[in-house]
Amino acid sequence: MATGNINVTAENIFPIIKKFLYSDHEIFLRELISNATDATLKLKHLSTLGEIKGDIGNPIIEIKIDKENKEIRIIDQGVGMTGEEVEKYINQVAFSGAEEFVEKYKDKVEDSGIIGHFGLGFYSSFMVASKVEIFTKSFAEDSKAVRWECDGSPQYTLEEIERGERGTEIVLHIDDESLEFLEDSKINELLNKYNKFMPIPIKFGTREETLPLPKDAKEGAEPEKITVDNIVNNPNPAWTKKPTELKDDDYTSFYRELYPMQFEDPLFHIHLNVDHPFNLTGILYFPKLSKSVDPLKDKIQLYQNQVFVTDNVEGIVPDFLQMLRGVIDSPDIPLNVSRSYLQADGAVKKISGYITRKVADKLISLFKNDRKSFEDRWDDIKVIIEYGMLSEDKFFEKSDKFALYPTVDKEYFTFSELEEKIKPAQTDKDNKLIVLYASDVKTQHSYIDAAKDKGYEVLLLDSPIVSHLIQKLEGSKENIQFVRVDADHIDNLIKKDEDKISKLSDEEKETLKPIIENAIPKETYTVQLEAMDSNANPFIITQPEFMRRMKEMQATGGGGMMG
Ligand code: ADP
Ligand code: MG
Repeated sequence: MATGNINVTAENIFPIIKKFLYSDHEIFLRELISNATDATLKLKHLSTLGEIKGDIGNPIIEIKIDKENKEIRIIDQGVGMTGEEVEKYINQVAFSGAEEFVEKYKDKVEDSGIIGHFGLGFYSSFMVASKVEIFTKSFAEDSKAVRWECDGSPQYTLEEIERGERGTEIVLHIDDESLEFLEDSKINELLNKYNKFMPIPIKFGTREETLPLPKDAKEGAEPEKITVDNIVNNPNPAWTKKPTELKDDDYTSFYRELYPMQFEDPLFHIHLNVDHPFNLTGILYFPKLSKSVDPLKDKIQLYQNQVFVTDNVEGIVPDFLQMLRGVIDSPDIPLNVSRSYLQADGAVKKISGYITRKVADKLISLFKNDRKSFEDRWDDIKVIIEYGMLSEDKFFEKSDKFALYPTVDKEYFTFSELEEKIKPAQTDKDNKLIVLYASDVKTQHSYIDAAKDKGYEVLLLDSPIVSHLIQKLEGSKENIQFVRVDADHIDNLIKKDEDKISKLSDEEKETLKPIIENAIPKETYTVQLEAMDSNANPFIITQPEFMRRMKEMQATGGGGMMG
């Protein structure tokens, strides 16, 4: 038997990293901007901790393209690196200076926002570059600037250079297969996709800004134009703020920022914010589902510390909530790993349960606080809710408090309200509650009218999954049955109190009820005024089923009650 160390040499591992680590070549830019962001965040944290003397100013990140020389530059004003640090962090594949920093300052810096983790991102630059140079100067006093160069083989050069300013400049010499990345439009597209909400301002070129005319401007005066940095990102997106700092308008305008092509306002939002047992922030929106909108296009976006990861949230967000829009941001979501890993990840599984709970809680509070507007929005949200009731048991339990059952006359009941309302008239001889429903008012109107004439409530359940939902409801609640309003057996199912329509007003009922009740032994009989015979009988006196049986038993001398 022999044991030993598997020998991982750079020669072996480089082609693997270059080929297989990332399926998408375009993410090189995200990775390098993430590193520049980390370097700047580190600088800010160290400055706050008093470890850096003097003012650090307002550091930004800049992207430059030089088409002629086939170069892309990513320039930051962050902590920079000394020669030794380059040896340690860059030359050692899979050694992460980001993770080292988080570990070192974990007691002093809360929510560092540091993105890096695995120590692999930098090497994604070799997916598009035949040669990479690093020019860098550390913030540390008296440190010498260095230049590192590597062509993707395990050999590198490292030398001291003259450089005044603190920070790092990465130069990518773009290879011939990747020339598309030298187009402004391509870089703009990537910045917009991955970096739109990153925390440090990112400059890409300049733009003209027209100054407003001064009040005393002469007629016909030309407004002054100035050239300003073109900052492509919003470093403080709404989800990173506290809910108390935001008004409804802020949520709506953030929705527009996320989905510039959406013209309908969202119906409502849910601000997510947890730090235990995992970290997660975000804002979800219930969209107004209109036919002109492609539900596959504007989806929930997943971020890690404000870096876009994916908008394929399958397995992370429960299926029924994938019709929502918005963002979820969690530092616990790994940036660089595969989808199957993501789905198996414990943190990710908890996220799904948490989101389901938050959505249910929000629906409960919306319903409680403003029932009218909740009812108004029901048609837009019911598909999502009903789908959730079917697929997530926890959500189904909570849905009792907000799921609505509209009648054909657009009256909205919760299930327990409905039960109360129809109990007197729609209980069959086995004490089963019969819920009548229609799915199409037009084709079923004669049945609907007939049922309404009898004083029955008819629900309008017209969503596509309604038959499944009915099964679920019948299975979970005792003694109820849903019956289509045009089913032939409807008459057998419903208690045979024909023509029940009360002709009495509420006041009349109130006066009448005590009078009758006083006249009969009310322990054995109930007086029913809600569903009355419209022809002759002004009211109905009924004897509860069990009372009748008791009586029978007493008469026959039978032993014990029978079901
Ligand atoms: P990760 O970001 O996961 O740590 P990377 O391979 O992207 O891994 O980077 C490795 C390390 O190199 C970083 O952790 C950091 O210490 C250092 N580094 C990379 N880019 C920069 C930069 N622009 N400024 C300062 N340090 C950097
Ligand atoms: Mg990185």
